[in-house]
Amino acid sequence: MTTPLLSTTGLSVAYGGIPAVAPLNFAVMQGDCLAILGSNGAGKSSLLRGLIGLTPATGDLTFEGVNITALATADRARRGIAFVPEGRRIFAGMTVRENLEVAAHAATGERQRRRDAAYDLFPQLAARDRHSAWQLSGGQQQMLAIARAMMARPKLLLMDEPSLGLAPAIAKDVVAALAAIAADTTIILAEQNASLALDVASNAIILDRGQQVFEGSADDVKNRPELLAPAQARAEARGS
Ligand code: ATP
Repeated sequence: MTTPLLSTTGLSVAYGGIPAVAPLNFAVMQGDCLAILGSNGAGKSSLLRGLIGLTPATGDLTFEGVNITALATADRARRGIAFVPEGRRIFAGMTVRENLEVAAHAATGERQRRRDAAYDLFPQLAARDRHSAWQLSGGQQQMLAIARAMMARPKLLLMDEPSLGLAPAIAKDVVAALAAIAADTTIILAEQNASLALDVASNAIILDRGQQVFEGSADDVKNRPELLAPAQARAEARGS
C-alpha cells in the first residue's frame, strides 16, 4: 500500500480546554487536493493551524511516514509543508519581486526559475514586478501570498480561505491558479465557499462545529449538496 503524504490519527485542537476540532483521522495521498469545508467557526482554520504547528494539537500527525507531531512550525516547513494563512501575510513595504525572492532558499538561478514559474502562474504579478506589495489589489495580494508559498517548492500546500473578501471573478482567477498548482503539488484547501473549492478539489472533508460529518470525493459533495447543510438543518430535515 502507498504511504500517505500526510495522515492524522486522533488529531484534535482545543483552546483552553474548549474543543475546536474533535479527534480526526484522515489521510492525504500525494497528488490529492483535499477541501476542508464548513461554515464560519466549523474549525477549518484551527485544523490547518494544527497541521502546520501554529496552534497546539493533540493526537498524531505523520508526514512522509515520519511522525511530526512534536515538530515546530519551522521544522514542518523545512520538511516541505507551506502555509498560506487567511489574510495574506505579505511584506507590504517590499516589491513583488522582493517578496518572492526572500521566500526562496535557493541559489540565484534556481530562484529566478521559481520566480518565472510564479509569474507564469500569475501574469498580473509579472506586470507588477517592481511595485510595492501594498499597491496591489486584494486579489493580487492573495496571488502574491500563494506565489510566495510556492517559491519554497513545497510538497504540501495548506491554504486558508483564499477566496475570502475577493470579488467572485477574482476568486475564480485565484482558484484557476490553484488548479494549475494542484497538477503537481498536493494541496489542503480550507474554504467556506464550497462550490469554488470543489472546482479544484479531488476529495473533501466537511466539518460542522468541530466534528467531521463527511469524508469522501469532491464529486460526492457536488452531487449531494445537502451534505453541506449545517447539522441542525439536517436534523430538522429529518424531522428530529
Ligand atoms: P472561519 O471560516 O470563520 O475562519 P473556521 O471554520 O476556520 O471559521 P475556526 O476559526 O477554526 O473556524 O474556529 C473554530 C472554533 O474555535 C470557533 O468556535 C472559534 O470561536 C474557536 N477559536 C478559533 N480561534 C480561537 C482562539 N485563538 N482562541 C479561542 N477560540 C478560538
